[in-house]
Amino acid sequence: MNEEHSLENLIDKLSDTITRCRGCMQCYTVCPLVESTHGFPTQGARGILRAILYGIRWDEVLGTEDKNELRDIVYACTTCAACEIKCKSSGAGVPIVELIEDGRKLLVEGGVGPLENQRIALKSIESLGNPYAAASESRLDWLKAFSERRRLSCKVVPDDRNVDLLLYVGCTASYDESIQKVACSLVTLLEEMKINYGVLKEERCCGSPANRAGERRIFSDTSAENAKRFEEYGVKHIITISPHCYNTFVNEYPELMKKIKIQHYTEFLSDMMEEGALVPQKELGKRVTYHDPCYLGRRNNVYEAPRRVLKSIPGLVVVEMKRNRQDSLCCGGGGGRMWAAVEEVTRLSQIRLREAMEVNAEIIATGCPWCHIQLEDAVKDTNNEDKITVKDIAELVAEAL
Ligand code: SF4
Ligand code: SF4
Repeated sequence: MNEEHSLENLIDKLSDTITRCRGCMQCYTVCPLVESTHGFPTQGARGILRAILYGIRWDEVLGTEDKNELRDIVYACTTCAACEIKCKSSGAGVPIVELIEDGRKLLVEGGVGPLENQRIALKSIESLGNPYAAASESRLDWLKAFSERRRLSCKVVPDDRNVDLLLYVGCTASYDESIQKVACSLVTLLEEMKINYGVLKEERCCGSPANRAGERRIFSDTSAENAKRFEEYGVKHIITISPHCYNTFVNEYPELMKKIKIQHYTEFLSDMMEEGALVPQKELGKRVTYHDPCYLGRRNNVYEAPRRVLKSIPGLVVVEMKRNRQDSLCCGGGGGRMWAAVEEVTRLSQIRLREAMEVNAEIIATGCPWCHIQLEDAVKDTNNEDKITVKDIAELVAEAL
């Protein structure tokens, strides 16, 4: 670990930066945790930051139980960044999410973090290249199965490196049966546009779950290996299905990734539609609302491309929920929370579903596998399958061809 990232520097940075917080509690007003847990035990961003600070100051006197309590507070955050945007507009500009993730790094260094299920997921990333304990050699099974149903021109890199575009599928769309259909829809669109594209033969996790959990070593090994592989294979342009892979490649990967054009697939589809290369024809005749994934919207300012794509589908009426774009409500699945059981009075995904139903949407569209899973669970858990459906934007465009 270099000097800049040493434990002492991390502690100094946290101690100095957290004290920039002025205690205005603006962050509290937008924190989804406050809404779903009714403020116990997390108390929003300021509460989490204070907990980290006290943890640093009292490290030597804290017992195991106190440390576990501190861990639960710090790992409850979804890293949705709603607080950070509010803090910035209030003038204080505390880099809250970075500090919370740095706090997690400290807990990992101290052997207190991450949470048990996150440890299992991270071990799986190290040994199998995915957090789902799935066999690495079955990663492309969804593609093999799809190619039995239709003829595909998809290349497998590096067996054939001559591609203009690499589809980085990601772990969830590769392994989760309910999300594989999103990958198939996107492949259908790439075929329709006659793109010279491919997927990686040995794709591995982007490493985002490790970074969210504060596991620097696993992230650093994973990102270095992936970036080296992209460079070696001469990759020029990547589209991702998950906003989490997108965010990690764009903001957290080594410098050498800067030579590669990286887009979330909704940005790519929007560009293709603008060029006239993709024209949805079929009327869908549905009322749809778009749920902004935190890692696409607030974290990367991609708000309009997904909406442009939806609005290009004939017969689709696009309506906004009361909280949209930078005010969108987190689904509860980010920040490593896919592997964390946080006790909530009402699940965030169910609050979000209610907001979609308030505007009489028949479809909640999203562009994130984890939002998709969270919202779909909310639909099932509240027995609303006959009223509303969750769809990925790629699925809707493919249906409209
Ligand atoms: S909004 Fe910013 S300055 Fe205000 S309490 Fe929250 S973290 Fe502190
Ligand atoms: S990032 Fe989101 S969940 Fe975490 S403290 Fe801020 S508002 Fe709350």
